[in-house]
Amino acid sequence: MPDGGFSRLTVGDLDVQGRRALVRVDFNVPVQDGRVVDATRIAAAVPTIKYLTDRGCPVVLMSHLGRPKGKPNPAMSLRPVVTVLAEHLGMPVTFIPEALGPTAEAATAALRPGQVALLENVRFYPGDETNDPAMAQALARHGDLYVNDAFGAAHRAHASTSGVAAFLPAVAGLLMERELAVLGNLLATPARPFLVILAGAKISDKFAVIRSMLGKCDILALGGGMANAFLAANGLEVGQSLIERERIPDAAALMEEAAAAGVEILLPVDRVIAADLKAGIAHHTVPVDKIPADMAAFDIGPASVEQIAAAASRAGTVFWNGPVGVYELPEFAAGTLGIAHAVAAATANGAVTVAAGGDSLAAVNDAGVARQFTHLSTGGGATLELLEGKPLPGVECLASR
Ligand code: ADP
Ligand code: MG
Repeated sequence: MPDGGFSRLTVGDLDVQGRRALVRVDFNVPVQDGRVVDATRIAAAVPTIKYLTDRGCPVVLMSHLGRPKGKPNPAMSLRPVVTVLAEHLGMPVTFIPEALGPTAEAATAALRPGQVALLENVRFYPGDETNDPAMAQALARHGDLYVNDAFGAAHRAHASTSGVAAFLPAVAGLLMERELAVLGNLLATPARPFLVILAGAKISDKFAVIRSMLGKCDILALGGGMANAFLAANGLEVGQSLIERERIPDAAALMEEAAAAGVEILLPVDRVIAADLKAGIAHHTVPVDKIPADMAAFDIGPASVEQIAAAASRAGTVFWNGPVGVYELPEFAAGTLGIAHAVAAATANGAVTVAAGGDSLAAVNDAGVARQFTHLSTGGGATLELLEGKPLPGVECLASR
């Protein structure tokens, strides 16, 4: 399958039988009062772990959680992950309360075929984020091969995501493989027309992605707070809406680039406005050129959703990142839920549909359409950097095909 040049060796390409696998996973899960409150990332790592245990590999897992800044911090311990992971795997998982040192090394050396252990948070040591070769080498002593399945951390050049690969044979896990295949295909050979929907709060968060996707897609739909810079560039009043005024010239330049590239830009045609951003506030829908100076737009209106839905219904590929409104409040969630349903419906029409981003995936789940997407990308920053065309250190370090 063409994958846009992201072709890396994966666990399926090696004879892994019985070899001790050191696997970088993304267990950066939300923990409250010592309990994991969302196990999505744990579940996503299960296929690779099972693949390895089924082949008699002792499996040593490592991950970061939160930002402990190089020091142990009990609130960011990976210990709460162990029981949740054990439930998902249907087998016991050993917790090793250090990631480095002789005690941890003895524990991982003693693992028997098919046993699984989880090391403590790699970011409890300063050498992870600085990509210290000594830390990478010490981590490498836990395995005979390195498997990177942490797509969500692949944009970081850390000891556990990339440095360690210098000391062991290094391949992609199954989750990493799928992310690279789907996203690589989207960049290299998308079925056309290719609709990209980008939204969220601020244009500066995603400027580079917008520019990169202009060179790839056929239709670019913009929404959320970010759309305000484009609307203002077209001379429209945006009232009290969130806007980065200094970015208006950039928005104008992007629209010129789109015109030159033959890419159609869809901007909101109606908005949901209110005097303030709070639950229970009076709100109503107005045409986009009728936003009063003392009001703010917090969502796109139904005609704007319909416009994007129509484009999705004839698309061959749809990529979506960013809520089109302040979906956290029910008053301003309809646009985002409408987009979730419209993109999900495009899958049934034969389109390849991909959503990415923490808030966007939360909205897809709220809409109850998660299973209808072709792919929900597990990377936030990593996905966007890949789409920007940046090399990902956690991918670059793996053996090429
Ligand atoms: P993701 O996590 O999916 O990448 P972002 O974090 O970029 O998405 O954007 C999500 C945020 O954008 C949400 O918190 C949402 O409230 C905000 N947002 C969307 N539309 C607007 C708007 N019109 N005004 C202000 N904020 C908005
Ligand atoms: Mg977000």
